[in-house]
Amino acid sequence: MLPVIALLGRPNVGKSTLFNRLTRTRDALVADFPGLTRDRQYGIGRIGPRPYVVVDTGGISGGDGIQALSEQQVRVAIGEADQLLFLVDTRDGTTPGDIEIAAELRRTGKPVTLVANKVDHLDWNLAAAELHQLGLGDPQPIAAIQGRGVSALMTRVLEAL
Ligand code: GDP
Ligand code: MG
Repeated sequence: MLPVIALLGRPNVGKSTLFNRLTRTRDALVADFPGLTRDRQYGIGRIGPRPYVVVDTGGISGGDGIQALSEQQVRVAIGEADQLLFLVDTRDGTTPGDIEIAAELRRTGKPVTLVANKVDHLDWNLAAAELHQLGLGDPQPIAAIQGRGVSALMTRVLEAL
């Protein structure tokens, strides 16, 4: 069974942008892996020779914080995942919704990587200091839209599995 990595976070933080970048045109391969629902939210990514399953928790109906986690499909994705990637929009700083989500994700007992997306156009040192208050360790900076930091992120995540 391949490692399963779930993308979580408030609406609009860039989950689907990261999903598309990680999976490119590999969606079709998903059908080859039994035990997962055949659903277009799943894709296959690869770091070097190592494939993994990535799950985009899209379709959140617009709620922030706890609401963003209460959707059934998000619960299922968390249950199936070996690693949780918690994305935040770094330009928003740390929002109340992010604080709620961070607390819930810590409670799952699963490994969580804090992903600071949209780091294009900002002072990273200031942003990183603020994100530390989420209690999830060092944030990993990326700009999903350009791909900056994405392979460093996935290397770190897969090494931790
Ligand atoms: P989701 O709701 O979490 O799936 O977020 P989306 O992937 O749909 O992205 C929401 C918006 O953020 C879109 O307009 C994206 O183009 C934009 N976005 C995603 N990643 C980045 C990034 O790294 N930098 C910037 N500036 N915008 C981004
Ligand atoms: Mg989305």
